[in-house]
Amino acid sequence: MSHSSREIQLVARPQGEPSLSDFSLVDVEVPEPGPDEVLVRNRWVSVDPYMRGRMNDVRSYVPPFSLDAPLEGGAVGEVIESHTDALPVGALVLHSLGWRELATVSADAVRVLDVEQAPPEAYLGVLGMPGLTAWVGLLTIAELRDGDTVFVSGAAGAVGSLVGQIAHLRGHQVIGSAGSSEKVAFLREQLGFDASFNYHDGDVATLLGTAAPKGIDVYFDNVGGDHLEAALGALRPHGRVALCGAISQYNATEPPPGPRNLAQVIGKRLTLRGFIVSDHADQMGAFVSEVGGWLRDGRLHHRQTVVDGLENAPAAFIGLLQGQNTGKMVVRLA
Ligand code: NDP
Repeated sequence: MSHSSREIQLVARPQGEPSLSDFSLVDVEVPEPGPDEVLVRNRWVSVDPYMRGRMNDVRSYVPPFSLDAPLEGGAVGEVIESHTDALPVGALVLHSLGWRELATVSADAVRVLDVEQAPPEAYLGVLGMPGLTAWVGLLTIAELRDGDTVFVSGAAGAVGSLVGQIAHLRGHQVIGSAGSSEKVAFLREQLGFDASFNYHDGDVATLLGTAAPKGIDVYFDNVGGDHLEAALGALRPHGRVALCGAISQYNATEPPPGPRNLAQVIGKRLTLRGFIVSDHADQMGAFVSEVGGWLRDGRLHHRQTVVDGLENAPAAFIGLLQGQNTGKMVVRLA
């Protein structure tokens, strides 16, 4: 017996900023799960900036999405039919077949969630891939050291808000940038940032110079472009940069210019290091142990922006790229 479902397909590759017409909501029939498979009813699906890159037909660290096929991405759902002893009906699981109501998933491609620790959707954000990204980028890639002053861009988003809080809870000075006055107030008033600025208020180098007059030691880059250039100018000797994302360039149709001051890397003996979180899955245990503890004892602020309905997932994704989210952007399914 098959099951009726709906899924979001990519029907055109976005040119520049994605538009709703690049996506289509399609009715489908999902077949019975096979041996060692489960049928999952998705409750929460994730929209993430990296998906923009997968919409282009280019070689990267993940293959591009196919046209006229369902999009993929992180999702949390409930097992409603199981053909494996390992996963009972009713289990809440994390998997990578989002953007659809029903997903047929191999039992070894799901992770059973500990919902005593946190609500299920937290595993798409603060206790999931974005959280681990913040943890790995700050501690392993930027090698956070005692006394470091940290600057993070995209600071009110899923990754950035955790970077700032990890640094703050470990006793560091933290500066953040974000795209609205509400967001920068949220960073200082709720998340413990020492200083923050709205990058729309002027030249980023000038704004950063005012927020961090003595300079910075670590820059966690979610944005690229003018933010990276400003950070290179503000970094003190032997400073370190975790190159995590470059969201200011994801919709670019022309190659963006490089930082004009890259040569400062030499004189200041800076280290710039890119990373992809999936290479660091071995750190998940250490990450969940420390960050999960802060979450349970209320020291870590966990914010998300919720959009309801699978049909609104494309708008949620477009809104994410436009900064409509504070914290993790997630889509809730009925
Ligand atoms: P966010 O929750 O931070 O959402 C994206 C945010 O980007 C928006 O809210 C918006 O906030 C900001 N933004 C959009 N356009 C611009 C712009 N032109 N200039 C500055 N800011 C902009 O997303 P995530 O936390 O999920 O991801 C943050 C970054 O981390 C992304 O670059 C992503 O690609 C990267 N990433 C990298 C991973 C890795 O393995 N290397 C893994 C996961 C994420 P605002 O209102 O402040 O503009």
